[in-house]
Amino acid sequence: MKPWEQNIRKVIPYVPGEQPNKEGMVKLNTNENPYPPAPGVKQVLQGMDTDILRLYPDPTIKRLGEELAHFYHLNNDQVFVGVGSDDVLAMAFMTFFNSEKPILFPDISYSFYPVWCDLLRIPYNRPALGEDFCIVKEDYYPGNGGVVLANPNAPTSVYEELSIIEDIIQHNQDVIVIVDEAYIDFAGDSALELINKYENLLVVQTFSKSRSMAGMRIGYAMGNASLIKALNDVKYSFNSYTMNQTAILAGVEAVKDIDYFGKSIQKIIVTRKKAESKLKELGFSFPKSGANFIFASHDKIPAKEIFDALRQNNIYVRYFNAPRIDNYLRITIGTDNEMNQLFDFLVNFIRKYTE
Ligand SMILES: *Cc1c(COP(=O)(O)O)cnc(C)c1O
Repeated sequence: MKPWEQNIRKVIPYVPGEQPNKEGMVKLNTNENPYPPAPGVKQVLQGMDTDILRLYPDPTIKRLGEELAHFYHLNNDQVFVGVGSDDVLAMAFMTFFNSEKPILFPDISYSFYPVWCDLLRIPYNRPALGEDFCIVKEDYYPGNGGVVLANPNAPTSVYEELSIIEDIIQHNQDVIVIVDEAYIDFAGDSALELINKYENLLVVQTFSKSRSMAGMRIGYAMGNASLIKALNDVKYSFNSYTMNQTAILAGVEAVKDIDYFGKSIQKIIVTRKKAESKLKELGFSFPKSGANFIFASHDKIPAKEIFDALRQNNIYVRYFNAPRIDNYLRITIGTDNEMNQLFDFLVNFIRKYTE
C-alpha cells in the first residue's frame, strides 16, 4: 500500500436504483412519480431567461424557502432547502450527530443512513423492527447520540402513527430527532405539527416523490429556527450555492400549485389500492402501504426469481439482497397502464411457475 493510500477516506457507497432508459420499459424501481410535475414548472422553464445563469444563484434560496414556509404555515427561518433530501439529510447528519454515543435508526430503513455514518464517522446502532416491520418504540429510550426515523419507512412502506413518533421524540429531548418524510404525502399526519412543541425535531421532505421532480433535486428540512441556523452554518462552510437558478424557479411553481399536487397524490393512492387487491389475488403479502410503493413477498416464488423474470421482460422493480428483506420486491406505483402491464406479466409467470 502506498503511504498516501492510508489517508484516503474509504467508504462503501450507497447504491442507487438503476436508471435504464429503454424503449417500452416499465420503470417501477426507484419510487419516481409517474405523472409530470405541475404545469407551471413547464411554463417557467420554457420561458426562462437563460441570461440569469451568468449570475450566481441566491445563496439563501429565499424565494423557494418562503414559498415552502407559506405552504406549511411556518416562519421563513424554520425552513432549510437543499439539493434533494439526500443532500439535506447528509448536511443534517454532519450538523447534528457529533456525539460519542451511537445514533439510532432501525435495522431495516433507508440504506443511505449507515453510509453517511461511515463517511462522517458517526457511531450507530440499529434496533430491529418487529416481525411486522413496525418500530419497537422502547428500543429508542436508552441514551443515544440522536435518532433517525423514516416515516413512512423505506423500503417497507410502513407508516407509524404520529403518537409513536411523538413518544420517541418525548423520550429523546436531549438529542436531535430527524424524521425523514420522503413519502408522507401518500400516508397520514406529518410530524411537522410537532416542530413548535419539540425544539429538537427536524422534519425532512422532498420534491422527488409526491411533487414529481426527482430530476430537479430539491429537498427541505423544517424545524426550530436554531436548528435551521445550525444547518445553514454548516452549509455555508461547505458550499454556499447549493441550489441552481433553474431549480429555484421550478420549485416555486411546484409548491404554488396546490390543486395539482393534491390530485396527483390522489391518483397514486387510488392506483395503490387497486394494486394491493390485485397483488393479494396473485398470492403476494405485504404490509399496508403508506407510500407510493408496495413491499411484497410471494407465498411460493422467491422474490429474486420474480425480479429477474420481470427484468428480462423490461419491467423494473427493486430487489434488496439484505437480511430479513431478501424475499421481497419493492414495487413503485406507476400509472394504471404500467401496473396492468406488470400484472399481465405476473399472472402468466405465476401460472407457469406453479403448473
Ligand atoms: C427517496 C428518498 C430520499 C431521497 O430523496 P431525494 O430528495 O431524491 O434525495 C430520502 N429518504 C428516503 C426514505 C427516500 O425514500
